[in-house]
Amino acid sequence: MAADVYFAKLHSGKTQSPLDKIRKLLQRCEVKKLYRKDELVAVKIHMGEMGNTAFIRPIYLRPVLEALREVGAKPYLTDTNTLYTGMRWNSVDHLHNAALHGFNYGTLQVPVIIADGLRGENTVPVPVAGELVKEAKLAADIIHADALLVVSHFKGHSLVGFGGALKNLAMGCASRAGKLDMHAVMRPRVESSLCTACRLCARHCQAGAFEFAPKAAITDKCVGCAHCIGVCPHQAIKHDWNQSAANVQKKIVEYAKAVVESFERPAIYINFLLSMSPDCDCWDGNDGPVTGDIGFLAATDPVAIDKAAFDLVVAACGGKDPFRSHYPEVDGQLVFAHAVRMNVGTADYKLHEIK
Ligand code: SF4
Ligand code: SF4
Repeated sequence: MAADVYFAKLHSGKTQSPLDKIRKLLQRCEVKKLYRKDELVAVKIHMGEMGNTAFIRPIYLRPVLEALREVGAKPYLTDTNTLYTGMRWNSVDHLHNAALHGFNYGTLQVPVIIADGLRGENTVPVPVAGELVKEAKLAADIIHADALLVVSHFKGHSLVGFGGALKNLAMGCASRAGKLDMHAVMRPRVESSLCTACRLCARHCQAGAFEFAPKAAITDKCVGCAHCIGVCPHQAIKHDWNQSAANVQKKIVEYAKAVVESFERPAIYINFLLSMSPDCDCWDGNDGPVTGDIGFLAATDPVAIDKAAFDLVVAACGGKDPFRSHYPEVDGQLVFAHAVRMNVGTADYKLHEIK
């Protein structure tokens, strides 16, 4: 059966606030039935690495948080620490970064909780019947919530093809051990003949994994985040994408399955198709968008909402996948096929435009 996905265009007249459109989307997803009085609701959001400007602006969360408060629920904003060093590497820096980006109690009147503890150690093993993952390592303070609502910025991603609800569920709700588990099959290599020893890669590697003799080489410190691949000006950093990227995509789907199955009721997913940069908000910078702002989607099926977002972006780009133009070796469509096989949701959706 096709899943319902609700869509509001950003451009639909000057007289309506985009925040009202988000309110309408939440109503159509029956927010009052899915969330209950006194429940602790984890509102999963990526608050953007320091230096990045493409992440979702905090003001867009206001209607989401209001809707949860109206039913008497107790929402909190949450994210997890990263694998690599940066401003989201531990909870102290992460909360500082969140506050500087406007995600704080003063702005939104909700607490911000980093869900996997001070240094990513607050982890819960969750059994899952995946092809590659049998036990997902998830962030305790998301999994222990009574309910979940997932707010995702739709954009490109170097390992997955695109980042939306599924990536936010999987990588975003995993503890550091879980993130390593998903990335572990990935480690790029340097093609020596192309390397000019400029050391730009080392400046961007937050794991300190590069050594030089004098050409670059990647050591065991590598956590497989793939940031360096897009950085090298000579395309000297390569990966065996055929094998590894497909495995990472599968693991992401299977981690998303573990999160979805941890909650009694479906979550509401909201995807923002705004400032869609070619890379993840984990980068400490961002390129311009791959296409113009499209609007907002909401659904209770994470696969359907990502498929609808992907199709809208491809349509806006004249039928071409703009993320694949950026990372030709990564086919984002493989994610949908595996997500359907793993019963995470359906890629068959009905789009309802809300005015
Ligand atoms: S950025 Fe590329 S060319 Fe420069 S040192 Fe690293 S691998 Fe070599
Ligand atoms: S993939 Fe590249 S940037 Fe990421 S940890 Fe490994 S060497 Fe560093």
